Amino acid sequence: MDHWPIGVFTSIDAGFGVRLEVADELNVPTIQVHAPHHDTRSPETAEKFLAKLEELGIQLTAVFGGFDGESYADIPTVEKTVGLVPIATREARLKEMFEISDFATHLKCDVVALHLGFVPHDTSSSDYHDIVACTRSLCQHCKKNNQNLHLETGQETADALIQFMDDVACDNLFVNFDPANMILYGTGEPIEALIKLGKRVRSIHCKDAKWADKPGKEWGQEVPLGQGQVGIQKYLETLRTIGYEGPLTIEREIPQDPERQKSEIGGAIEVLNTTKQALSIG
Ligand code: MG
Repeated sequence: MDHWPIGVFTSIDAGFGVRLEVADELNVPTIQVHAPHHDTRSPETAEKFLAKLEELGIQLTAVFGGFDGESYADIPTVEKTVGLVPIATREARLKEMFEISDFATHLKCDVVALHLGFVPHDTSSSDYHDIVACTRSLCQHCKKNNQNLHLETGQETADALIQFMDDVACDNLFVNFDPANMILYGTGEPIEALIKLGKRVRSIHCKDAKWADKPGKEWGQEVPLGQGQVGIQKYLETLRTIGYEGPLTIEREIPQDPERQKSEIGGAIEVLNTTKQALSIG
C-alpha cells in the first residue's frame, strides 16, 4: 500500500458512513466500513461485499462495530447509550462484537474497531475492572480471528486511554485516532493527544471540528475538513512524526444524499492532497 492512501468511512447497508458508490466515483482506494445490521450480517453479505470491493479495486482496512440504541444526540446521551460501557446492554453487545469480528473474517479484514463508550474514571472501582475485563475478552476473541482491535478516541483523554489500554494488557489492542472527537468531546488538544498515543495509533480518521464554549459539557461542532480547529497540516506533520503511514480515512457525518456526500468527501480529498503536496508526500 502507498504511503497515506486516501480512505473514506462507508456503510454496507445502514448506520454511519457514505455509500460505497461515492468512494468508487471519487477513486478512493481504501475504506473503513460500519458493520451491517444484525439481520444482514451474514457470510453471504460479506462475500457479496468483498466481491464488489475486488471488482472496484478498493481495499477494506477496518470493520467498525455499532449497536441498536446508540445515540450521539448530546454528551450525556452518549454516556448512557454508546458502546460496551452501558451495563444493561453490555453482555448482548459483547456477543454482537464477537459476531462482528467473525463477520470481518469473511471480509478478510484483520482490524475490528469501535467506540467503547465513556470508561469510568475511578480506576479502582469494580465498574472500571468490569469494562477492562470485557474489553480483554473482546481482544481475545479478535486474536483468535487474527485481528487487532482499535479503540476510537474521543470519550477519554489520551492519558486515561493509555492507562486503560495498559490495564487491558492485550498485544492486539490499538487506537483509531479521531482528532475531531477530541475537540467535540472536549477531551484534549488533538495534536498533543496524538503525540502521546504515538505508536498505539494504527488507524485514523480525518475529521474536523470547532471547540464548544463549554468543552466537555456540550458538543463542539463538526465541520468540513480544513474548516475547523484540528489544523490539518499540523495533523499530517504529526502523523509523520509518530511514523504513521496508513490510510487517511475521511469521516463525515452527513445525510444519505449521494450528491452532497460526493461534494463534501471530494472537498476533503482535495484538502488532504494539497496538504500532502505541501509536505512533499504522495
Ligand atoms: Mg471517528
